[in-house]
Amino acid sequence: MLKGKTALVTGSTSGIGLGIAKSLAQQGANIVMNGFGDTEGAQAEIRALGVQVAYHGADMSRPSEIEAMMKFAADTFGRVDILVNNAGIQHVAPIQDFPIEKWDAIIAINLSSAFHATRLALPAMQAANWGRIINVASTHGLVGSAEKSAYVASKHGVVGLTKVTALENATTGVTCNAICPGWVLTPLVQKQVDVKALAMGLTNEEAKKQLLQEKEPSMQFTTPEELGALAVFFCSAAANNVRGVAWNMDGGWTAQ
Ligand code: NAD
Repeated sequence: MLKGKTALVTGSTSGIGLGIAKSLAQQGANIVMNGFGDTEGAQAEIRALGVQVAYHGADMSRPSEIEAMMKFAADTFGRVDILVNNAGIQHVAPIQDFPIEKWDAIIAINLSSAFHATRLALPAMQAANWGRIINVASTHGLVGSAEKSAYVASKHGVVGLTKVTALENATTGVTCNAICPGWVLTPLVQKQVDVKALAMGLTNEEAKKQLLQEKEPSMQFTTPEELGALAVFFCSAAANNVRGVAWNMDGGWTAQ
């Protein structure tokens, strides 16, 4: 379905970003990857799906590096057809103790990076009259949780940015939508499981169950593969008129 298209997925060396990159590659899209950690291993996983892969190590907190990444993608593949703004970080602390540098980093990586990548991707998408922008927000783009001020503020911001991007392009072939996952068992969430296990003297399995129990009636983690399938749907012709939604995949978290 996406043969001949190029998808740039930020933060695609791990977790949800890697899952979405795989799903888009399975549909034939060439992939521009980004993120830290095992960059070689992540690229190999995508390359094994038979598509072309390029990697750029832009730090998504730095606008100049985002500009360099977007230029690299256009130089390598001609154009970015699908932009997935996924890179994100978390920090948990009450507002009065929240480290200022963590606030700034979360807003920069989770929210401002999506603005920068979007403003740089749009002109070519508009010229081609086809494009898909998918923002990985969160249930925390729809509801709040204590001790996650920067994260919740950034993700509500992402949902707002999604709506405005969709509206400004509503008469064109460029759509923008957000995905709002509940708990997904990635390194970002495993850290929160570890903190809970330590604080409450629980095993890893007990801490995971406790985490789910607090928020997700389904008592199941959403998987990167399920989120990837939703991203593929947003890229399909059937989703041509799906514009500006914040689609939760959260085991009932926000239905309560
Ligand atoms: P993860 O830690 O597995 O992956 C995060 C990715 O972002 C990695 O590839 C990492 O290298 C990259 N990254 C981090 N800082 C970066 C920076 N400064 N520049 C470039 N890349 C950077 O986490 P994940 O759970 O897969 O999270 C991906 C997205 O999904 C995030 O936006 C997160 O907020 C969102 N999300 C996660 C969950 C969950 O339960 N895991 C739920 C809702 C939303």
